[in-house]
Amino acid sequence: MNDCIFCKIVKGEIPCKKIYEDGDMLAFHDVNPQAPVHFLIIPKRHIAGIMELEAADSGLVGGMLYKAQELAKELGCGERGARFVVNCKEDGGQTVPHLHIHVLGGRGLSWPPG
Ligand code: AMP
Repeated sequence: MNDCIFCKIVKGEIPCKKIYEDGDMLAFHDVNPQAPVHFLIIPKRHIAGIMELEAADSGLVGGMLYKAQELAKELGCGERGARFVVNCKEDGGQTVPHLHIHVLGGRGLSWPPG
């Protein structure tokens, strides 16, 4: 999608601090980190959000989740854990309409969210 910031990152038109990439997904550090570890993992194909998923995307999303926990461990969150978050649309606080999983760790996080 031409005006999507994360599609531009996928295409290399906007720089990112890349952590991992394969044919289907890209992981990079969040530009405005909310915890010592804060990265995003996105599908390379434009999917607006979690509620736009189709049944055929389940393998892709499962792979993203699996890779997210692998990377979280590599970044030192294996023992104390991390938070895996998908914000969705207005009430969910989504600001970038391209599906992404946030991974936050390296400090204790409160619950419930505000
Ligand atoms: P959300 O509010 O769930 O849609 O999260 C969007 C996230 O994308 C925010 O945490 C932003 O800080 C992050 N973000 C926006 N632009 C960039 C960028 N160019 N590189 C890395 N992270 C970004």
